[in-house]
Amino acid sequence: MELTITRTSHPAQKPADPRTVGFGTIFTDHMFEMDYTPGQGWHDARIAPLENLSIHPGAAVFHYGAEVFEGLKAYRTDAGTVQLFRPWDNVQRMRDSAERIQLPDFDPDFLLEAMTKLVALDQDWVPSAPGTSLYIRPVEFCTDIDLGLHSIGKAKLMILLSPVGAYLAGGLKPVSILIEDHDVRAVRGGTGYAKCGGNYAAANRAAAKAEAKGYDQVLWLDGVHQQYIEEVGGMNVMFKIDGKIVTPALTGSVLPGITRRSCIQLLRDKGYEVEERLFSVEELVAALSSGALEEAWGCGTAAVISPIGKFCYQDTCYTIGEENGPCAQWLYDTLTGIQWGRVKDPYGWVYPIPAEKP
Ligand SMILES: *Cc1c(COP(=O)(O)O)cnc(C)c1O
Repeated sequence: MELTITRTSHPAQKPADPRTVGFGTIFTDHMFEMDYTPGQGWHDARIAPLENLSIHPGAAVFHYGAEVFEGLKAYRTDAGTVQLFRPWDNVQRMRDSAERIQLPDFDPDFLLEAMTKLVALDQDWVPSAPGTSLYIRPVEFCTDIDLGLHSIGKAKLMILLSPVGAYLAGGLKPVSILIEDHDVRAVRGGTGYAKCGGNYAAANRAAAKAEAKGYDQVLWLDGVHQQYIEEVGGMNVMFKIDGKIVTPALTGSVLPGITRRSCIQLLRDKGYEVEERLFSVEELVAALSSGALEEAWGCGTAAVISPIGKFCYQDTCYTIGEENGPCAQWLYDTLTGIQWGRVKDPYGWVYPIPAEKP
């Protein structure tokens, strides 16, 4: 498929200090867009100036939530080059998410090429201040104008770019977690493993409750037994117990995070035993009470590693520590070191963006 490129004639002002822009509120000059029509397939692939969409209010995405997305980052190295981290994994996961919602599949090579060209075109927007990056947001949704509940026909796929500061203002520091024992995020057979907007809508109420009580994040239990730990907020979660690492298995209701996969590889190569298994809240409480729990952290693209300092479950709070644990700190330093090009990448995770603009 041909990809047309139309450059803006009115480049926007870039933020003076990208460390203070927050997360995902400022966008670059261009966006990628392509459309899908049954019988015709994907068409009109284009990179063009960012603009508002004109979509009929009856489009199915507004009513039935047929939408999937991805999130990854472009990093500015000390040498001034721009690179992505495991973008192929994001493209493949987006296909898996789309399959779950029955949105049309796409050519992964073409999507990666489009992403590469878009980032190359807007590469001056990749900030260089410590901790900053350019967030890449691919999104696909149904554009059928139809309030009937039908299988999906037409769709649109876009990529947006947004310069972002460090996700957590104040840098790496331990967060407090409320273990949610009423609402669930995902159920077995549902959409938990897919990156779809509906999962986030389902999480809003518990997140609001936790925030109102002064906690930073929610820890989700499984939707069947409300017993097994799944994720923390929009991150995967890991525990260090008696020197071993434990992380919830990918049972179908847990999002298969690329940061999670990267952490497991780094930890195993460092000599840690890593168990991917069911891990119950009782087991967590026992490990907290006995002191066997040495560290816990969330992991995801946005925050990279988020050490956990405190868990609260049914009105009892357990403190792990006020300091970042050494394992969480090592993972953070190693991952961000590879992502920003300061640590050697023996895994082939880094993906360079060409210096020439297309
Ligand atoms: C995106 C996401 C993650 C983290 O995935 P990464 O690929 O590491 O960014 C974890 N949990 C949920 C629910 C997510 O949406």
